[in-house]
Amino acid sequence: MAAATVFPLKCAVQHYAWGKVGLDSEVAKLTLSDDPTVAVEQEKPYAELWMGAHPKGDAIICDNRISQKTLGEWIAEHPECLGSKVKDIFQGQLPFLFKVLSVNISLSIQAHPNKELAVQLHAQFPDRYPDKNHKPEMAIALTPFEGLCGFRPVEEIIGFLKNVPEFHVVIGNEAAETLENSPGDPHRVSAALKKCFTRMMNCETKTFVDQLNMLVKRVLKEAAGGKDTTGSNGELLLRLHSQFPGDVGCFVIYFLNVVQLRPGEAMFLGANEPHAYLSGDCIECMACSDNTVRAGLTPKFIDVQTLCEMLNYTPAPANSKIFPSVRDPGDPCVFVYDPPVPDFAVIKIEIPCSAKRYTISSIDSASILLVIRGEATGTAAPSEVKIRRGSVLFIAANQAVDLCIHSVDGMLLFRACCML
Ligand SMILES: [Zn+2]
Repeated sequence: MAAATVFPLKCAVQHYAWGKVGLDSEVAKLTLSDDPTVAVEQEKPYAELWMGAHPKGDAIICDNRISQKTLGEWIAEHPECLGSKVKDIFQGQLPFLFKVLSVNISLSIQAHPNKELAVQLHAQFPDRYPDKNHKPEMAIALTPFEGLCGFRPVEEIIGFLKNVPEFHVVIGNEAAETLENSPGDPHRVSAALKKCFTRMMNCETKTFVDQLNMLVKRVLKEAAGGKDTTGSNGELLLRLHSQFPGDVGCFVIYFLNVVQLRPGEAMFLGANEPHAYLSGDCIECMACSDNTVRAGLTPKFIDVQTLCEMLNYTPAPANSKIFPSVRDPGDPCVFVYDPPVPDFAVIKIEIPCSAKRYTISSIDSASILLVIRGEATGTAAPSEVKIRRGSVLFIAANQAVDLCIHSVDGMLLFRACCML
């Protein structure tokens, strides 16, 4: 019998405390739809679904013709399934981890090193930086999704320095003046931003906690009096402060863009880009790494010096942070999110309700397919698999899958792969 090249996966759920709870969580909903026998606990957080071969959450293969238990074990024995280029370039490993995230409480503000810095950090502090890889990430919204990303246009930051005196105190007069006098020259702007941000991150704990408490008190009073608090980003400040009281990350919102994604819109987080996920459900794809440098909204260790040195201090407006997908000229159902890194790309396949058949094209890369909407029978001889909302399939390189569609409202699929 020919080896199976397409098979369903049962994926690992991570119950981190920041996840949406019970059936509010898209992770829980997808898991239950894939397997109605799963018991979803209404009080439990369902934060992440891991669709990949990461050792901390290797997907289980649901195919009784296959003797290996997990995707990682199967790939180790069949590295050719990755595709020849992927196999060679990424040393026989699946180079990406595909996820669904359901965010209730903000994740820490963070940035990820580029490859060069990752090698250096791992050599110096192997406990803190566990591998030598970079960790570019892409988030694609499934529901309205909110995040922080990149430094704001400098005029906005100067506006906050005027409107939020407590923020001004934390930065200090000298750094604030440097920024106020910098516009016009991009190098001076970046240097001034770095100076301001570094001052804030090195501010004495007592000072920023006092200032933060004063700020929260003032905004609460203004809000109670019916005043507009947008000049202090009041709503977000109070929300983050309720989640992380006394955390320096509450001031970081005056430096970083607040990005709102509608379903299908994406954000790409390249090396050194400061970011945080605040709320909503998304699909995420990332390179295989655990290298994270934190900047606030966290009880965990913050490596202030590394963080302040590494960040990309180029200011840009919030709408420039939305990463565009490109429609495939050969297939109107396909939209490709192809970030400027070799490790991964994500393909969105939107099949209209009129279609009864559709072929998922073969590509020279292993891929993982997630069904968000619709039902079908997929054939990739000798395999035949039934898929529905929540199903996750592994598709080996150079294998097409013919879908016979049963649902009347079309299908929405996301496919992670490597486009070299
Ligand atoms: Zn990240």
